[in-house]
Amino acid sequence: MPELPEVEVTRLSFAERIRGARVTGVRVGKPLRWPIGIEPEALVGRTVGDVSRRGKYLWLAFDQGGLLLHLGMSGSLAFAPKAGDAGVHDHFDLVTARGTLRLTDPRRFGAVVFSPALDEAPAAKLLAGLGLEPFDPRFDGAYLHGALRRRRVAVKTALLGGAIVVGAGNIYACEALWEAAIDPRTRSDRISRVRAVRLADAVRTTLARAVELGGSTLRDFRDSHGMAGAFQLQARVYGRAGQPCPRCGTTVRRIVQGARSTFFCPGCQRR
Ligand code: ZN
Repeated sequence: MPELPEVEVTRLSFAERIRGARVTGVRVGKPLRWPIGIEPEALVGRTVGDVSRRGKYLWLAFDQGGLLLHLGMSGSLAFAPKAGDAGVHDHFDLVTARGTLRLTDPRRFGAVVFSPALDEAPAAKLLAGLGLEPFDPRFDGAYLHGALRRRRVAVKTALLGGAIVVGAGNIYACEALWEAAIDPRTRSDRISRVRAVRLADAVRTTLARAVELGGSTLRDFRDSHGMAGAFQLQARVYGRAGQPCPRCGTTVRRIVQGARSTFFCPGCQRR
């Protein structure tokens, strides 16, 4: 599943190139998760503005309204000067004077939804309930400490939920907790202020490193340049059960929390 870093890498790969381009055509394939909510032809003639990201959504602004895009479980976006014939999994093309932005999504959990503005329905409704952005200056130790204290679940579960901070998907939550030396099973309201500061830093640096490395290579993710990321190869505990912890040498363990695999070091990650 494309996670926040992959979505950000995708955004960076085409935002500059598509800005200012005029829409000349739209091709819609099979239905995605939600209806697009506008006659595709009504987009022709509009000019693309900024492409921004909120959580795992991209907002492609036009001079009037915009499209909220989501990659779902298996989606990818590519922007190319010349798009080939649409394949069986290509379900949306935004054709512009500079090239075609194409959504390829074999499982069709992705979405392309028109909204008059980001802070109006339907966009505002879809984005409601998202936690802070990890790179938002408001996401700091004090904020994280307060948010964790209001919950009584395992700290990893609290991170994965996305209502405190977006972007800490399974691989990144595991890595951040290792970085902060916190046992993922620790109850969220028992995390001290000092450890919350360390964890907030770890979430931010883990995600920043993933964006730098071009996103992870989980499943079939490919960014718009067809470049596969290298994050997973550099993971310290994720996917490394049975191998020595790079910090203390203890054998990394895999457990299941909330139906998801958690990887951690029982030696140096403390409750
Ligand atoms: Zn260790």
